[in-house]
Amino acid sequence: MALIAATRYNRGFTRFLHSPRVEQVADIVSVAEARRADSVGREVVVQGWVRTRRDSKAGFSFIEVNDGSCFGNVQIIAEAALPNYESEIKRLSPGCCVGVTGLVKASPGKGQATEIQAAAVVVHGLADVESYPLQKKGHSFEFLRTIAHLRPRTNTFGAVARVRNRACNSIHQFFQERGFLYVHTPIITASDCEGAGAMFQVTALDLAAEAKKAVESEKGEKSEKGEKSEKGPGIDFSKDFFNRPAYLTVSGQLEAETFACALGKTYTFGPTFRAENSNTPRHLAEFWMVEPEAAFFDLWDDMELAEGLLKRIFRDVLQECPEDMQFFNRRIDKTVIETLEHIVESEFLRISYSDAIDILRKSGQRFEFPTAWGNDLQVEHERFLTETHFRRPVILYDYPREIKPFYMRVNDDGRTVRAMDVLVPKVGEIVGGSQREERLDLLEQRMREQDLDPESYWWYLDLRRFGTVPHSGFGLGLERVIQFITGMSNIRDVIPFPRTPGNAEF
Ligand code: ATP
Ligand code: MN
Repeated sequence: MALIAATRYNRGFTRFLHSPRVEQVADIVSVAEARRADSVGREVVVQGWVRTRRDSKAGFSFIEVNDGSCFGNVQIIAEAALPNYESEIKRLSPGCCVGVTGLVKASPGKGQATEIQAAAVVVHGLADVESYPLQKKGHSFEFLRTIAHLRPRTNTFGAVARVRNRACNSIHQFFQERGFLYVHTPIITASDCEGAGAMFQVTALDLAAEAKKAVESEKGEKSEKGEKSEKGPGIDFSKDFFNRPAYLTVSGQLEAETFACALGKTYTFGPTFRAENSNTPRHLAEFWMVEPEAAFFDLWDDMELAEGLLKRIFRDVLQECPEDMQFFNRRIDKTVIETLEHIVESEFLRISYSDAIDILRKSGQRFEFPTAWGNDLQVEHERFLTETHFRRPVILYDYPREIKPFYMRVNDDGRTVRAMDVLVPKVGEIVGGSQREERLDLLEQRMREQDLDPESYWWYLDLRRFGTVPHSGFGLGLERVIQFITGMSNIRDVIPFPRTPGNAEF
């Protein structure tokens, strides 16, 4: 009786949910829980969004409801005898939001263990059939990017969100279990040349006003001197918020090193920004990066850590998100499950950059970019190595010093540095790391080599001045990992709100 009474509360559903009479009989459960065979016989409340409604001639409706807790929907059976059947239930369409109280029964239907015989259906919100953009299935990913606020309601984006969440959980568990300390490095930074690419400037100045001032002062100078000013209009950032130019971070590495050089094993995991105009399916202007940094780790320890982390993420996703993975395997890329299963069982290959160059040169393959020793590897080279030649993840190490940043440790040969990149099929580089240069004189020399002023890195050099320590670390791009796991071909579809050149509406 309590369940039927609940429908009368439909002006205040929360009151209904918390009514002591109802709680005695019905547990509020997720769709995932309601779908489990061992829920049969329970009185439950589920809440979520309608995916479809079908009406049977026999006087009842099937409503598929999804709440994001799992890939599958729960099927609701709503009889015509329900008091709001004609007025509300028969108006339900994709996107409507409902709360359902009812009995979980074994389902005779295929592909589901259970269904819910509704005792009450409360409609929280209707969605107009004509204007709801997700009325029909099968929209392109390009179109869905234009409705980033609604795409989490689709099968694909729900699955991506759950896999992404699982991966993040595994990342933290992996490091925490190994005694790594989670460090929060700053998002705003004043070091403008961390060697990782173009940066977004952060300012509190009124740029329009500053530009006007600059133009006026230039005019003034011109009329005084009667000639064009040499310097051109400039903005004085020493008057800005931080009394210097400031930027969004391209990497937390340098700051993480300060903690590793005090507390041992650390990692950062946060948003990272690159202002490069790279319109590729593998680059975002804002992405999430995991950066472990560990004292007393050499390059081999670093590789082992990266391999262990990737395998842990893959294993957990396969195990904890089987429904989502089956969906990706069915609809996005027929090889993803097999590939991941194979990878967690096999060793990542380790070969030097020089050996990789040899392989590329002897391959007989025509590449667009040159394969001479000393050149950076391009995606085509990385893909040839992982997809055609080795057919598995490869860790390349010992890169030419000229193409790598100043902080990587110089090898005894003088020509290479202790860098390592993990390359995987389709995505290419997924991890970039190195053993860091811990010798003060060599580090200073490397800075000058790359036209960096050691003075402005005084705090970074102090780590080598006082109790220097061999240490290593790497950066793992979260979105590249999610791309690899799911088979999604565009990185814009594995982050909730992609930021790319010309795109920041949502
Ligand atoms: P790439 O050569 O692919 O542009 P990178 O060498 O500039 O990458 P690193 O500075 O080594 O990248 O960054 C470490 C990791 O961060 C990369 O291995 C990759 O997984 C990820 N990453 C780098 N740039 C981006 C980006 N623009 N969008 C998404 N992920 C990125
Ligand atoms: Mn890199």
